[in-house]
Amino acid sequence: MEQQQIAAYLLKNGIRPLQKRVKIMSYLVSKRNHPTVDMIYNDLIHEISGLSKTTIYNVLNLFVESGVALALNIEGNEIRYDADTSVHGHFKCKVCSGVIDFRIKPEDLPNPGLQGFRIDEEHYYLKGVCAFCISKIEA
Ligand SMILES: [Zn+2]
Ligand SMILES: [Zn+2]
Repeated sequence: MEQQQIAAYLLKNGIRPLQKRVKIMSYLVSKRNHPTVDMIYNDLIHEISGLSKTTIYNVLNLFVESGVALALNIEGNEIRYDADTSVHGHFKCKVCSGVIDFRIKPEDLPNPGLQGFRIDEEHYYLKGVCAFCISKIEA
């Protein structure tokens, strides 16, 4: 997505498209790397003057509250952010700490035995070692 499209997308979701917000959303959409606040900070500090981790945190909170991003808590206190708000699963690699998306269909899920329940959030997490890291270990 271009910056203009991102700005329009934010506006449509009730978020004023300030420059920092557009840049951070653009980062999430283009990188698709499920970054932490620190990762975004390290990558954008040279691009956005006066950027602070607090600003990034506040922008991401706004995104999550407005429904344009998900906050993922895969392990410990580490929160990672995702601009893909559709239901999908996440695989975390123990070696490179990468978080990779996988598609999931309702028919793939085991019968949860929750008939009559209302599900508000769905999170599917797998952990292991990604193919890239396995190939490096075996090499
Ligand atoms: Zn890996
Ligand atoms: Zn994802």
